[in-house]
Amino acid sequence: MIGQNIWDISSLFDKKPPKTKHPIFCPICNGRFFFKHAFLFRRSENQYRVDIAVKCSNCALVFQFGVHLSKEQYEKLKKIWNGDRLDYNITGHKIIENDKKT
Ligand SMILES: [Zn+2]
Repeated sequence: MIGQNIWDISSLFDKKPPKTKHPIFCPICNGRFFFKHAFLFRRSENQYRVDIAVKCSNCALVFQFGVHLSKEQYEKLKKIWNGDRLDYNITGHKIIENDKKT
């Protein structure tokens, strides 16, 4: 699944921001990213995605990742979120964390 090599999406199932498997930093100012939103969509038959948008806490650059999902992940998230969108006002305004805490 493209994108799941970088993103650990398991916390999305608890309505919490996703984590990255490695730390990510803003390419403009080296700042950290806040979670902005995640948006589910079906690209076409059997192609399921979650767009993960993040915003730099320093320079406000917005990045979006189009992470591939299985049909099961897509349907489960849609049910848990009660829709196709998870926003920062639900999860809290959190910095994107990575799995390997240092
Ligand atoms: Zn920045």
